[in-house]
Amino acid sequence: MKRFKTSTLALALGAIALVAAIRPAQAADDYPTRPVTWLVPFAAGGPTDAIARNIAQRVSTALGGTIIIENLPGAGGTVGAAKVARARPDGYTLFVGHTGTMAAAPYLFKSLKYEPLKDFVPVFRFPDTPMVLLVKNGARFKSATALFEEARRNPGKLTFGTAGVGSSSHLAAEHLAATAKVKFTFIPYKGTGPAMTDLMGGQIDAMLDQTNVSLPQTQGGRLTALALTSQGRMDMFPNVATLTEKELPGFLASTWYGIYAPAGTPQHVIDTLNQAYAKALADVEFTDSLKKQGIDVLPTDKVGPVAFRAFTASEAKKWERVIKAAGIQPQ
Ligand code: ASP
Repeated sequence: MKRFKTSTLALALGAIALVAAIRPAQAADDYPTRPVTWLVPFAAGGPTDAIARNIAQRVSTALGGTIIIENLPGAGGTVGAAKVARARPDGYTLFVGHTGTMAAAPYLFKSLKYEPLKDFVPVFRFPDTPMVLLVKNGARFKSATALFEEARRNPGKLTFGTAGVGSSSHLAAEHLAATAKVKFTFIPYKGTGPAMTDLMGGQIDAMLDQTNVSLPQTQGGRLTALALTSQGRMDMFPNVATLTEKELPGFLASTWYGIYAPAGTPQHVIDTLNQAYAKALADVEFTDSLKKQGIDVLPTDKVGPVAFRAFTASEAKKWERVIKAAGIQPQ
């Protein structure tokens, strides 16, 4: 009887140990069991929002779950970043970070409420997107040269829309103004979506925005693309020269972005998200549709968490250098 009891106990303990051993695997299989939120720190309708929705749709299909996009604009995207930095690290709240929020912001804001690579873990990198110098259709500037000449004649008179201090449109515009040796007055918006609406309405003179949302507007004849910030020309913007080939040799600008999770998010969640993203990127029809918007689809060895962390760190160093060299004081 005693013998029987001992072996029952041993069996029970063994069963508990077995359950404990298989629990992590079950948990990994279980993610996600409810909708996952991707927080976009800019207004709906802009390029970050558009690319995030595009990718979320594919990733959610591959995950077999739902991804909800939440827009929380403010302070160049840093309001949204601070919110996700404090979210529960369970894989259900993720952040769409970019050039500004994850690399430049610590050098632009004195009291930033998060540290990009301490409070977040990089999950995967979206494709990069070059930018377009835009004016309203029918504007008096018929070329980037004409825009720069007027800005040189009247320093600070021309208004230039941005998505706020430290956003990629602002960083690229500051870089553009410094390279062209001109002065614009920057007008901050909650995203380049609302800035573009004002550009079409004639409230501002010019802006830089990513190709994915600029293309429908230039094709529809509402905006004119004066120049591209890419290395080479693009078929979808016929007759539009690059700034580097003409006015500003060496000038390149693009926005990079990707998904970041609050630090402490379980590795199996990061792996599951990466597997789903890899599935999405393996669909040639999907990557072709991105390329048709001028979006640079990256080689797969550049998109995973390790490469994305190294890239974020190197970009932070680059923006620290650029911001200090330009003498920009953190606000
Ligand atoms: N990508 C834009 C920027 O940082 C913002 C947006 O997507 O609305 O300038």
